[in-house]
Amino acid sequence: MDVFEKLFIHYRECQVITCKQCQFAVNPANAKGHIQSKHKTVTKEQCARVVEFIGRLSQVAWSPAQVKYPDASSLAVPGIPVYANGLRCVFEVEGRECNYTCRERSGMQKHYKTHGYENLRRKGRPNEETDQSRLWVENQTCQWFFRTGKWQKIFPVQVVPRSGQAPAVDVVAKANEWMDDLFNGMDQE
Ligand SMILES: [Zn+2]
Ligand SMILES: [Zn+2]
Repeated sequence: MDVFEKLFIHYRECQVITCKQCQFAVNPANAKGHIQSKHKTVTKEQCARVVEFIGRLSQVAWSPAQVKYPDASSLAVPGIPVYANGLRCVFEVEGRECNYTCRERSGMQKHYKTHGYENLRRKGRPNEETDQSRLWVENQTCQWFFRTGKWQKIFPVQVVPRSGQAPAVDVVAKANEWMDDLFNGMDQE
């Protein structure tokens, strides 16, 4: 469907549609509002067709719980920005790293309470410095699909090794280059 494809990318494996120009995912229920407020060159008739098309798509999440996030070892999702400054929780839950990701230290500190971190500290075990390296990694490349409300969730992509400090700058550059190409392509249409 040409108008849909001009505006959106459908990532079936994640069950989301991202707006090419805005570079974020759009709640399918808000597609009409999104098009009308952000993409005024789209006619009413085209908009109605796109909305109808989206309504018939399979593999689209209509609630935040249905979004399928990429695995932490996956490459970045093309078409949305990649950030290099995430914090990722490496607390092990049943032998696997928790992978909760956020961009604020305060957010991570709050998250840690869910692991009973307060109790751990009270036992007077590791000091703040050693603690931190064991609890989360910094410079984690991360992305998020949605910009609004309950749909917002940051997810890690291409996990950096626990000991390595290099944020995968080339991964970020590569993903952003991909987007530049996309927009150059659009301009030529
Ligand atoms: Zn848009
Ligand atoms: Zn965690």
